[in-house]
Amino acid sequence: MFVLRSAQGPVSVRASIRHVVPSELCTTLGIGGSLVKTTEHVLAALAGCQIDNAYIEVTADEVPVMDGSAGPFVRLIKAAGVTKQDRQQPYLKIVRPLEVMEGERRVLIKPSTCPRISYAIEYAHPLIQHQTYDFDWTPQAFERDIADARTFGFLHEVEYLWSKGLGKGGSLDNTIVLSERDVMNPSGLRYADECVRHKVLDLIGDFALLGVPVIGHIEAERSGHAMHAKLVERILAETDSWVLLSADERSLSTYPTAHLSVIPDTSTQVAIQTAAGF
Ligand SMILES: [Zn+2]
Repeated sequence: MFVLRSAQGPVSVRASIRHVVPSELCTTLGIGGSLVKTTEHVLAALAGCQIDNAYIEVTADEVPVMDGSAGPFVRLIKAAGVTKQDRQQPYLKIVRPLEVMEGERRVLIKPSTCPRISYAIEYAHPLIQHQTYDFDWTPQAFERDIADARTFGFLHEVEYLWSKGLGKGGSLDNTIVLSERDVMNPSGLRYADECVRHKVLDLIGDFALLGVPVIGHIEAERSGHAMHAKLVERILAETDSWVLLSADERSLSTYPTAHLSVIPDTSTQVAIQTAAGF
């Protein structure tokens, strides 16, 4: 749940696909005229750490971009601390495959005993070309392998955005910028396959908008925020494609059973604290 602090008083916006406002550059959530932009990486940090109950207070209309990854949020969450709650969280278990396709791009989800993501990207750039990543969704693997992968963009796109007055907060401090043959950031890449890892991160943030943790195997090829959102919408619409598992049923699977939330941290612009109920 995002809580937007404004002169008119706080406005609560649930992190749900129903509150997504169409936006080309980032995932924007809103109710009426109250908007919060760039929600995807803080949501990825929470979902990646399997935290399903938190308030995220924001004092402007945009979540700080930090370094373009979810790593700083994960470290703030760990510094703030996490509390187990008594109330059990149900899980949505996929029982029938669902797919969204657009030409060569596609994203699908199929039944699996535990949450998995397989991502493939293809770019005609010497540092990317064909990259794939298989991710078994645990908080430890998320923190270790995914959280620090940064947003990336190509120089011609970034120049275009800046010329249009968009992406003003974008810089080499929070975006991997790829020139025709190289990476422009002086420190280089954090991983050779950082780009596909960031796509996994984005997908985790987008799936947080389902509103309930999912157990299934997501396969994505050349996908992006809009297609991820369409798959989330299809899952919610096609109620015979999944069942809700109670905690007892879930514990029969290999999926971790911890039910977590985050206690307040007042040292940052984004304060995360416990919410009362799912
Ligand atoms: Zn991203």
